[in-house]
Amino acid sequence: MENGIKNKVIAITGASSGIGEAIAIQFAQQGAKVVLGARRLDRLKALAEKIIQAGGEASYIITDVKKRGDLQNLVKLACDRYGKLDVMINNAGISHLSLIDKLQVEDWEEMIDVNLKGTLYGIAAALPVFRQQGSGHIINIISTSGLRIVPLQGVYAGTKNAVRTITEALRQEAGPNLRVTGISPGFVQTELADHMKDENIRAAIKQKAAQIAISPNDIAAAVSYAINQPANVDVGDMVIRPTAQD
Ligand code: NDP
Repeated sequence: MENGIKNKVIAITGASSGIGEAIAIQFAQQGAKVVLGARRLDRLKALAEKIIQAGGEASYIITDVKKRGDLQNLVKLACDRYGKLDVMINNAGISHLSLIDKLQVEDWEEMIDVNLKGTLYGIAAALPVFRQQGSGHIINIISTSGLRIVPLQGVYAGTKNAVRTITEALRQEAGPNLRVTGISPGFVQTELADHMKDENIRAAIKQKAAQIAISPNDIAAAVSYAINQPANVDVGDMVIRPTAQD
């Protein structure tokens, strides 16, 4: 695998906003061919047009990470269009916070489907291509929520810690030709909180984010650091949080 970002083919789930969008823009500026997946087609189209107008290379396809076939189509788009896939970034995620006692079972299921199963589907789609190529890099976006357990975040943190466990197991199983990285952001200024259902929790998280959150570009820079290492250097785990985060 070449070092650096230039000419790498990089697939990103959840590319329509926040961290995924920042990664796409930053990497396209560095000469990567970015392959964008998310559900909101209008957002993907606008992002790809912005990248292409700036001289970059981007493709997109509707990708609902709850559907295994959509992840396979995302990887197929990369391979058909650019002849390879260098990096798979499993970034799509949702966060519904509530006390476990509230039994928001549908929200639990959605987080398991998107955060956990969606990441597994991304791995399942990319891994055979990486094995055939003899190289590849899987990057999973996790969370500090899984590192410091607090009330309200139990199920969300549970899905993220499951991803952390799988990421480390995959790293150990990977062998010398596959790099595996887990990136755990703290508070980042994105749309994540906008989708929280409980009005009071949403307001509290948004207020906290307004006070301390870092930029999605800070996370993109961390992902870039991991990719930019020489092929024999695997950045296994990174935590990037606001200095003010407890
Ligand atoms: P955003 O809400 O801005 O982005 C989330 C992305 O996930 C969107 O592009 C959304 O696209 C996509 N998404 C949601 N559901 C699905 C689905 N079923 N299929 C495909 N895509 C989906 O939030 P962030 O950028 O903050 O989130 C990115 C990742 O970072 C998540 O995994 C999140 O858990 C993690 N994270 C975020 C932190 C933060 O403070 N912001 C902190 C720690 C971790 P669309 O709706 O178009 O499908």
